[in-house]
Amino acid sequence: MLKGIAASPGIEIGKAYLLKEHQVVIDTTHIPEEKINREIKKFEEAVEASKSQLEKIKQKAEKEMGREKAEIFGAHLMVLEDPVFLDEIKAKIRNDKITAENAVLQVMKTYIETFKNMEDEYLRERAADIKDVGDRIIKNILGIPIQTLSDLTEKVIIIAKDLKPSDTVQMNKEKVLAFATDMGGRTSHTAIMAKSLEIPAVVGLIDIYSKVKDGDTIIIDGNTGIVYINPDKAILKKYEKLKQDYKKYRQELKELKDLPAETLDKARRVELCANIGTPKDVKGALENGAEGIGLYRTEFLYMDRESLPSEEEQFEAYKEVAQSMAPRPVIIRTLDIGGDKKLPYLDMPNELNPFLGWRAIRMCLDRPHILKTQLRAILRASHYGNIRIMYPMISRAEEIRKANSVLEEAKQELEKEGIPYDKNLQVGIMVEIPSAAVIADILAKEVDFFSIGTNDLIQYTLAVDRMNEHVSNLYDPLHPAVLRLIKQVIDASHKAGKWTGMCGEMAGDVSSTAILLGMGLDEFSMSASSIPHVKRIIRSITYDEARQIAREALNMENIEDIKKLAESYKILP
Ligand code: PEP
Ligand code: MG
Repeated sequence: MLKGIAASPGIEIGKAYLLKEHQVVIDTTHIPEEKINREIKKFEEAVEASKSQLEKIKQKAEKEMGREKAEIFGAHLMVLEDPVFLDEIKAKIRNDKITAENAVLQVMKTYIETFKNMEDEYLRERAADIKDVGDRIIKNILGIPIQTLSDLTEKVIIIAKDLKPSDTVQMNKEKVLAFATDMGGRTSHTAIMAKSLEIPAVVGLIDIYSKVKDGDTIIIDGNTGIVYINPDKAILKKYEKLKQDYKKYRQELKELKDLPAETLDKARRVELCANIGTPKDVKGALENGAEGIGLYRTEFLYMDRESLPSEEEQFEAYKEVAQSMAPRPVIIRTLDIGGDKKLPYLDMPNELNPFLGWRAIRMCLDRPHILKTQLRAILRASHYGNIRIMYPMISRAEEIRKANSVLEEAKQELEKEGIPYDKNLQVGIMVEIPSAAVIADILAKEVDFFSIGTNDLIQYTLAVDRMNEHVSNLYDPLHPAVLRLIKQVIDASHKAGKWTGMCGEMAGDVSSTAILLGMGLDEFSMSASSIPHVKRIIRSITYDEARQIAREALNMENIEDIKKLAESYKILP
């Protein structure tokens, strides 16, 4: 048995097909002066050949996977057209007097290193794009045929060191049951592609390629990341059953899309919403049946750029989300920068404890022009849909009042300018600092709603850094202190006639669903793909049952007992 990273869910059993890599031999000797031009020409021809191959692959991808997924190949083509990249290679051939293939390899390596050292996981994974393009040019220089998975004749499980995006596109989908690869992470291309094609996949297995032979029987469990090579009869039987159960479960989830998130006895209905980071994410939210956007993280608009985004730019983004979700509600969170997310153009201080530092609403209240621009953009967009505003990192009532006075100024400006906005727009706060949870009864008077940010609430309540793997065993959403705070917040809001949602990861964690439902949470906001799973649990229990579970959990003294209780209501296949 091997354990890797579960990259795309589902279970498959089948015969192995190894994606063999042709041996690529790079000539590293120096070349005489008179051969330089010939090597440069070889390189240029290989770039042209690569371009026409990629154009074809891109067209195929557009047809089969849609424009957005095909953009990966657009990015590859851009690399091939990037004069800096091309000139660097030509200069290397000329100055270092090396072969074309060697120059491509050297330049590609420096690019890959740069990407691999990037902080952002997504950008790190883009090193694979450069490698894919570079390998293609090298093979074209050397005249090595590029193996494709387009002519598979029987249904197989693909085993590879790494699957490049071009491999995935060219393969005959009818014939591929699942993938397993040595390399790759959760956001690698293999993972992204496998998920969009709904093919189970396990990546990051390190050495599966060297352990498997063509034709071996393989079990891929994309739910847990487990892979078996030539399993015995008992294991095969167990997995045949799991495979059938999972298929049934998937079908059930699909059928839930347009059904309400109400309990079995219809005594309680809640709202299931999606968390998004950019307007592009709205599509996934709607596909998964989101009833609104419970958290629009606006930080991405401010990141990877040299100056603050203008009011107009922000307005366009917010309006797009508001319009495509209307009449469903969209909660836009004002800028939550600081902590681990810094803006280079904002001259932010170096702090000893950035998570307890000058961040989010604290920074915005010190630089009210930044907040005002954002609030004006949000207000203007509110005319085009059902927008709500939410302030992050609130720790005291004064902060809400100050933020609201900036909001009031923004409203008055718009009035004067004759620009329409929604006059009944709701304003709420994130409850993610323990002090806010403790004084929820006081804060409830100042807001229309609360949204509990458990990611931060848990880290601050338990004094456990949410990013530090050395203490991750102490990061317990079901710690009695966390449960009590959540309950207190929900009760305080209801007493004041307001409502409470949750937009931290806990809202999408199926082992917490029954407890949160029973505590009276009104809205759950999560990554879109979790919505059907949570809905299925809500629809399978009565409100009385959920309330009973919540009561039991709140009365328990040990975290392990609460976890056991929670697990028993997880009801996954
Ligand atoms: C939270 O803290 O729970 C939350 C949703 O916000 P973020 O993860 O963006 O800090
Ligand atoms: Mg937070």
